[in-house]
Amino acid sequence: MSGGDPFEGVFGQPQVRDFLRASVRNDRVTHAYLFTGPAGSNKTLAAYALAEALVCASGGCGECDACRRVRRRKHPDVHYYAPEGATGYLVDQVRDIVADTSLSPIQADRKVYIIDRVDLMNAASANAFLKTLEEPPDDVVLILLGRTRESVLPTIVSRCSVVPFRHIPATEAAGIIAQQAGVTPARARIGLAACDGSITRTIEFVKSNERMEFRKSVLGVMGRLDSMDSWACIEAARELVGLAKAPLDEIRAAQEAEIRESEDFLAKSAIRRIEERNKKALTAKNLESLNQVASIIASFLRDVLAVCAESPEVVVNVDVMTAIEEAAAATDEARIARAIASVRTCSAAISYNVSPETCFDALLFELKEALYGSHSPYQACI
Ligand SMILES: [Zn+2]
Repeated sequence: MSGGDPFEGVFGQPQVRDFLRASVRNDRVTHAYLFTGPAGSNKTLAAYALAEALVCASGGCGECDACRRVRRRKHPDVHYYAPEGATGYLVDQVRDIVADTSLSPIQADRKVYIIDRVDLMNAASANAFLKTLEEPPDDVVLILLGRTRESVLPTIVSRCSVVPFRHIPATEAAGIIAQQAGVTPARARIGLAACDGSITRTIEFVKSNERMEFRKSVLGVMGRLDSMDSWACIEAARELVGLAKAPLDEIRAAQEAEIRESEDFLAKSAIRRIEERNKKALTAKNLESLNQVASIIASFLRDVLAVCAESPEVVVNVDVMTAIEEAAAATDEARIARAIASVRTCSAAISYNVSPETCFDALLFELKEALYGSHSPYQACI
């Protein structure tokens, strides 16, 4: 992406694009937005595009240092938050965000806060936030993201300018990703399955050979599952957690380089704030990567289900078709449904900070039992 219009990249949402572009051009930007739309509707991308237009001295030229930093998600005055609690925002986290809004910007004239999943903000957290939302400091723009308007507390909705995003159908999303990342639509669908439908994360995923290898290794474990004993499950669980951790070193190195680059012109306190934020970003990335392991396993199981249901044309992981067919031949639809339910339980446990090794060990054991076990542990209960 280059050139002078940051909103050009907000694919699949022409109305949103026109609305935001006009708001910036006509100087009608308000202090609080609520972007609503399902996962994969490009809300995050649109939020960063608006942030770029707001922190760049020329309204988002696409070429200056500020624009480039926003595009690399590294601008010190553009903040991104996701819920730190397993079930949503913790009151303490919201208080931290509120406290941060009163600090002066580090580089730009204003600060932008992108606050994801505000549908996961309960009444207590929302209460800590309402005053700021109603009257943020003059140099602050808040961009809240939520799945639906109805799922966000009315006290939050009523204080924001609501921008609805449409659902982007999977084939259209795959087309956008294929074009943007320069990959085949088949690879785009594989990425979408691993990234829970998020277009922004999928573009990053499919462009990275390392991530695609990571996916291959996860699928490799699924292919071996039938022949694994309990010890092999423990070993494989450790392998999955190791695979999820691999990209973190790279991110850490990039963060350190970023700080060295800014050291000369930033105050010590500003550097400390960046370091603090980097640490949180690393934790979030680790969780995202662990969830990708679960998403990849789930997509494999959905493919096995498709073959069982005699719809092989909807298989996403076409490159491991042999393993999918072998698994399908050894199991049935009811068993696969149980296996998919186990993956959901595993994802939830990971979000609750249960040791990921324990979660994946339990998951692999359950998947093996569900798919290939001689008797079902559930049948005994009926
Ligand atoms: Zn610029």
